[in-house]
Amino acid sequence: MRSIQHYINGQSVGIATQKTHAVLNPATEEQVAEIQHATSEEVNQAVAAAKAALSDWSEASIAHRTKLLYKFRNLVLENEHYIAELITEEHGKVHSDAKGEVARGIENIEYACGFAETLKGSYSEQASTGVDVYTIRQPVGVCVGITPFNFPVMVPLWMFPNAIACGNTFILKPSDRNPSAPEFIIKLMNEAGFPKGVVNLINGGAETVNQLLSHDDVDAVSFVGSTPVAKHIYESGTAGGKRVQALGGAKNHMVVLPDADIDLAADSAVSAAYGSAGERCMAISVVVAVGEVAEPLVNAISDRIDNLKIGPGMQPDSEMGPLISEEHRSRVVDYINSGEAEGATVVCDGRMHSSEQKGFYVGATLLDNVTTDMEVYRDEIFGPVLSVVRVQSFDDALDVIAENQYGNGVAVFTRDGGTARQFQKNVQAGMVGINVPIPVPVGYHSFGGWDDSLFGDTAMYGPEGMRFYTKQKVITSRWPDPTSSQVDLGFPQNT
Ligand code: NAD
Repeated sequence: MRSIQHYINGQSVGIATQKTHAVLNPATEEQVAEIQHATSEEVNQAVAAAKAALSDWSEASIAHRTKLLYKFRNLVLENEHYIAELITEEHGKVHSDAKGEVARGIENIEYACGFAETLKGSYSEQASTGVDVYTIRQPVGVCVGITPFNFPVMVPLWMFPNAIACGNTFILKPSDRNPSAPEFIIKLMNEAGFPKGVVNLINGGAETVNQLLSHDDVDAVSFVGSTPVAKHIYESGTAGGKRVQALGGAKNHMVVLPDADIDLAADSAVSAAYGSAGERCMAISVVVAVGEVAEPLVNAISDRIDNLKIGPGMQPDSEMGPLISEEHRSRVVDYINSGEAEGATVVCDGRMHSSEQKGFYVGATLLDNVTTDMEVYRDEIFGPVLSVVRVQSFDDALDVIAENQYGNGVAVFTRDGGTARQFQKNVQAGMVGINVPIPVPVGYHSFGGWDDSLFGDTAMYGPEGMRFYTKQKVITSRWPDPTSSQVDLGFPQNT
């Protein structure tokens, strides 16, 4: 059984702690690791290590930082199968999905390897007579990343490669439910040759997070997790004068128009709703069926659900694994009960699956005739439950999305380019898919939703990540003309 410790100043620590808890394999319910929660002293040590490393690291050349990031990228690539195995063992998602997670994470390291270009700044010669103006970007300082259970590797990689490429130092506080993969990748940073203290890892729960949030020597906080916690992190972090970006939960809609390719839409709905057992912030949880498309679409989705293979993530033919915990499993079942009680039609019922085998399973569930006042529609369920809301028109579909509390991802399925363009322009969400069900932006764009899916001004990774992890400095410079000794005391005339 693995024992998960903290990683501070280039070494594993954790003997001082008294509080531990078990990490389970959700497919077998067996314990696979034990995680230690940081003491207050250990949190202080991690911040002190990051602060002490900051001066030298921010002075390191871009070339040196890039060289180490390349080494780290290669080490993650060499170990991708093992990392994916750790993810599957503690999260439950199928192995191919876990490998996809690692690949998307590597994309972010590769983007950070190109920061020489991103950090270039800008220069305006002769902005006024003899005056040049230029903008440079400098590191923010000690940065903290707090991450959720559903992407234990990809989400940390959204953050720390970009942060350190910009010259910051970093403390990662991953989810305490699947800590082995994040611990492994942080150790790879040491192997890649990053100086001690540049990246540190602290394990724990709310108490640990709150100590980091209120620590005077922490300058910036990146958070990804549920909306109530995101709001708390944003409000308390900014009240303490820190720079904060906090990404929250979601309820992602997929609009299917009457002219759509039904097979493509049904395949996409099934993979986007039930992949990773619905534990994705970009999972489709609502299909908005416009007009007469509803009946054939519900039938096509239901046929596909009948053929889904549910089982342990390491079993090669499994397409959907278990949920993260028993507590979450019963919460998802409660939502299905509530949907049924409020009048939704249960077309495919995953509740039975939960009692058939060991592991925290719920089968793929399809609810039809869901209305926007139902709890099952309003709340983020984060499980394999897809609701179908039937509407009469394209405009009705846009209204449903606009009125929803969240605004993370959204998708439209149509064969009409003009309608798709209208959708892209008017829909109220941060990431839009056109015949693409999960529009997670590539590493050189940025990820972020609207409304209660993001608190703060900058999205994560890509160019927005660079802006978050740097402070702008604008220099206005005038050097005296060596051929003239005249002093000009006036305001520039812009002649
Ligand atoms: P969570 O909010 O429970 O936990 C996220 C992190 O916050 C963890 O590290 C946890 O230890 C810490 N935390 C939990 N409660 C806290 C509290 N009261 N005070 C301070 N810190 C606390 O989220 P989760 O269950 O791990 O992850 C699932 C959620 O994350 C879903 O809502 C999902 O939509 C969201 N998510 C969003 C995105 C996005 O990009 N918008 C991406 C992935 C996941």
